[in-house]
Amino acid sequence: MRQQPKVLVVDDEESVVVTIKAILQLDGYDVATTTSAAEARKMVRDQEFDLVLTDLRLEDGDGLEVLRAVREHFPETVTIMLTGYASLESAIQALRVGAYDYLVKPSEVEELRSTVARGIERRRLGLELKARVVELERANREVADLNSSLQLRIDEATAELKERYEQLKELDRMKSQFLSIASHELKTPITAMSGFLQVALRRVRRMSDGEGGQHPPGESLQAVLEQLEVVYRQTGKLARLIDELLDVSRIQTGRIEFRYGDVDLGELAEEVAMRMQLTTTTHQITVKRENGAVVTADRDHIEQVLNNLVTNAIKYSPGGGPIVIDVGREDGGVRVSVRDQGIGIPDKELESIFGLFYRSPDRAARDQAGMGLGLYISKEIVNRHGGRIWAESNGAGGSTFHVALPRVPVGGTPPPSV
Ligand code: ADP
Repeated sequence: MRQQPKVLVVDDEESVVVTIKAILQLDGYDVATTTSAAEARKMVRDQEFDLVLTDLRLEDGDGLEVLRAVREHFPETVTIMLTGYASLESAIQALRVGAYDYLVKPSEVEELRSTVARGIERRRLGLELKARVVELERANREVADLNSSLQLRIDEATAELKERYEQLKELDRMKSQFLSIASHELKTPITAMSGFLQVALRRVRRMSDGEGGQHPPGESLQAVLEQLEVVYRQTGKLARLIDELLDVSRIQTGRIEFRYGDVDLGELAEEVAMRMQLTTTTHQITVKRENGAVVTADRDHIEQVLNNLVTNAIKYSPGGGPIVIDVGREDGGVRVSVRDQGIGIPDKELESIFGLFYRSPDRAARDQAGMGLGLYISKEIVNRHGGRIWAESNGAGGSTFHVALPRVPVGGTPPPSV
């Protein structure tokens, strides 16, 4: 509140106005006066008074109107009605419409001073209360804001935890599935080998006992040889499976080592194509190459990537068909693409197939044996060269795998070639 409380005195008797003004000024109030109801209404509209003392009956109007004008413009201003005995009833009416108090004229000086002082105190408390309420409301809003941002953060953290939990659960599920697939994959060649070896052993025993049976010794020897070849092929398969497992373990423990040198990817692709063509009669593997597609890379590991992509291209196009390896220079590096016309890959799996243990839930893919490691290993190898590997598919039209390698491995100078 201002230093000097502002008081307005309204009464149509000049003498009353002057007296009250003198008394209140002595008490330290800043006092304005008027004898007209119209002017009083104007004054209370134009400026804020702490307290308004108004006669009820004015020559040019009604004190109640002044009171209403105050209420309308500055509801915190305290109003006191001045009234004669005759209009006590009107004074009560004034109280009902919001006047703080009333004084009966002529009033005692002390009564006037104490009523005005009480009114001013009431105004001070009212304003203080209002300020507190505003402060409380602001604090409340801040608490509400904090609360909602806290809730938001809790929700975010919960969602993140949930997602992580789901990922872990999925990884766990894939691990158990992997164990059962891996045991099956390892067991199959061993069962085959054990069967063939038993038969071969029986034959050799008979031969060494001199019992050729109905077969001449040359024929029996030929049969044993064929069986041993099957066993040999199975050991190769077993070794490849175990190599994949070892690779994953090396990648995960950071023990994979690269030996860098210049590698002509066109030549490497030709070699891989030639070797892989020996494993299939229903697919035609061709290489389209641009000369000079040379990068600094680990030859054996990049060969492993190409082997894996071509093996998959064969495996996942069970009906046979063309497989094209495209090698070209691109963006200062080299891009190799392997395209088949097999079963294709659903869009939503194009990224997940590079995950550890990932095997498609799709029936056609499931029919093929595999442990879900090949693409994971390939991606790790390519990434560590600073390259990128990704897949495209047009549904039943087949799949294309792309490998982009920088001219030299990104992320530091490669060690000298060996
Ligand atoms: P695996 O072949 O042992 O399952 P990979 O990591 O090599 O493991 O491949 C992961 C999955 O990606 C496969 O199970 C298969 O669903 C899908 N996939 C890979 N290559 C192809 C391809 N050329 N055509 C269709 N699907 C493929």
